[in-house]
Amino acid sequence: MDLHTSLSYLTGIGPSLIFKLKRLNLNTLEDLIYHFPFRYDDFSAMSTAKDTQIGQIVTLQGEIWSIKNVYTRARKVLTQAIFNDETTPITLTWFNQSWLAKQIQVGDRLQISGKMAKYKNKLSIIMPKWEKLESLLPLRGPTAVSHQPLHTGKLVAVYPETEKLTSRWFRTKISQVLPQVIEKIDDPLPKIIKADMLDLSQALHQIHFPQNWQEVEKSRERLGFDELFFVSLATQKVRLAWQKKPLIHPLKINKLFLKEFIKKLPFELTGAQERVLQEILNDLKKTHPMNRLLQGEVGSGKTVVATLIAYLVYKNGLRTLFMAPTEILTFQHYETISKLLTPFGIKVGIYTGSKKSVESSDVIVGTHALLSSKLNISDVGLIIVDEQQRFGVEQRSFLRNRAKLPHFLTMTATPIPRTVALTLYGDLDLSVIDELPKERLRVKTYVVPSSKRNDAYKFIEKKIKEGDQAYVITPLIDLSETIQSARAATEEFKKLKTKVLPKLRLGLLHGRLSSKDKEKVMGEFKKDKIDILVSTSVVEVGMDIANATIMVIESAERFGLAQLHQLRGRVGRGYKQSYCLLFSELRDSQSISRLKNLEKIHEGIKLAELDLKIRGSGEIFGKKQSGRFDFKIASFSNLTLLEKTKLAAQNLLKTNPTLDKYPLLKRKLDELSAQAMPD
Ligand code: ADP
Ligand code: MG
Repeated sequence: MDLHTSLSYLTGIGPSLIFKLKRLNLNTLEDLIYHFPFRYDDFSAMSTAKDTQIGQIVTLQGEIWSIKNVYTRARKVLTQAIFNDETTPITLTWFNQSWLAKQIQVGDRLQISGKMAKYKNKLSIIMPKWEKLESLLPLRGPTAVSHQPLHTGKLVAVYPETEKLTSRWFRTKISQVLPQVIEKIDDPLPKIIKADMLDLSQALHQIHFPQNWQEVEKSRERLGFDELFFVSLATQKVRLAWQKKPLIHPLKINKLFLKEFIKKLPFELTGAQERVLQEILNDLKKTHPMNRLLQGEVGSGKTVVATLIAYLVYKNGLRTLFMAPTEILTFQHYETISKLLTPFGIKVGIYTGSKKSVESSDVIVGTHALLSSKLNISDVGLIIVDEQQRFGVEQRSFLRNRAKLPHFLTMTATPIPRTVALTLYGDLDLSVIDELPKERLRVKTYVVPSSKRNDAYKFIEKKIKEGDQAYVITPLIDLSETIQSARAATEEFKKLKTKVLPKLRLGLLHGRLSSKDKEKVMGEFKKDKIDILVSTSVVEVGMDIANATIMVIESAERFGLAQLHQLRGRVGRGYKQSYCLLFSELRDSQSISRLKNLEKIHEGIKLAELDLKIRGSGEIFGKKQSGRFDFKIASFSNLTLLEKTKLAAQNLLKTNPTLDKYPLLKRKLDELSAQAMPD
């Protein structure tokens, strides 16, 4: 038995449990051991029933006098027991656990933990945690428990649960598994880095079974360190590898060409665009490939900057690939880029699943299908990747065997706080466009309570009669596009169409539609044949429709602020005043004031930082994108730890860039950095 052993080898775990475990992403013993508690119940106060106050959380030792199941009129089952600890008998009550009346028998000695209450005028504990005491000798005192208690009488770990997989189940299983594998857990951290932190095996033991709060803290310190450290190490290592790779063709940069291009633009570049352009140009002068992340709000002018670079590359006799995440966005980019480049005699081609026209193109816009195509890329000098489509397996194999690489520019509209970006994307250099073109109007944003809902619909109707268009985004249900979210969108669509706004032309868009249907709906919306597009939040963040001026978001409280901001970015693309209406049926003032931040704050980064403060890092990316590295303990708001782990990683790589002095570390890293690029 080792860490990679499947959980199905454990006794008592059958197919149905395996299925449930899989849903929590738990497949191996290692996964189970790394399933960390998210809080602890403190049951360490031992007492007697007589000395306990109502409301106090206590642990008692005593004997079961009676136990039986009682069925209520609502067909619910209560299990009730009389428990005596030799000071005063009390009642124990459990709900919906009828099997307890068999597991616990009269005469059994138990240790129980829970909150002392008065129930029907009797001293009781509702839903106590319990375990049997083996010893028959003195009822109280340290000798009574012949084995280490797991569920009572101490700090007790509480886990993310689903039915059947309760915290009790996890504690029991982990306590069985851990002793069998703990010897086999090698600590990959070199001593110099570990310093006074716990050993890995010790940390793993203590996080599940701590003796006190200090042990909790020490174990979280170590395990949290690991999470950030390995990300830092992985990204820094990739960064070093990039810097060693030679370029396909070094570029010559002729500023005159640039000026000529910029002069022909129908606008002036913003200060931020100029700055970022300069940062990119500095990269392009080097002899190793650029690997840069260009971050900027939707509409901040990233694509324009990228196109400028593509123009330079063209002037060097090289081609550019421009990759978009979806077919619709590919068409959109194709249009924008062609408009900018064709006046210079540059041929722009397109390559998607359904349309391939790349014959003698200088710039090719396409989906990831581009990479699996037989396209010859020996004369590709630049690859632009839109929207954080990080390189996956297929993309890596595309580049794996190439001795030389083109320049890479990744663009994202996801606002990522700088500290986070530097860790998570530490392999990339970062450029930020933090300024919108001047004439752009701010999207007026309002949190709309249910009492104002009808007024809001009237407003929308009026705007649409004036010729505008609107989006209605349905609630976030799952973080991927599920049947449920498609159903929610469909229902909202029906409701609006039949009851609320029957005179308007409505369209429906969700991830369950075929890509053909999706495109048809988007196309109609673009051509203004649809007034209101009802859509799930997951589809097509980058659509650019200048005539759409209203963004309605249902159950806005379910979204992170930065996510809402990104949705809001779909309107306000033209020169008309745009509006974002955040609907929320919630009344609690905390959620509402969280949402109200959007009325005042219009910078994505600031909102992302607020998210970080309010809810932690998962919110920044939406769960969909946070998969790059999954943190259970570490938090991006811990700047000290971020800095510490980054320095540790850098220093280690400085002294031993290949890491062959640390084979354990290297192996761990290989497992983790399946996404990193150069080999
Ligand atoms: P992004 O890729 O960041 O979403 P784009 O480059 O597509 O932004 O630009 C969005 C819109 O703004 C386009 O219509 C573009 O022509 C326009 N635009 C870009 N830069 C400027 C600028 N400096 N001034 C005015 N309009 C601009
Ligand atoms: Mg864009």
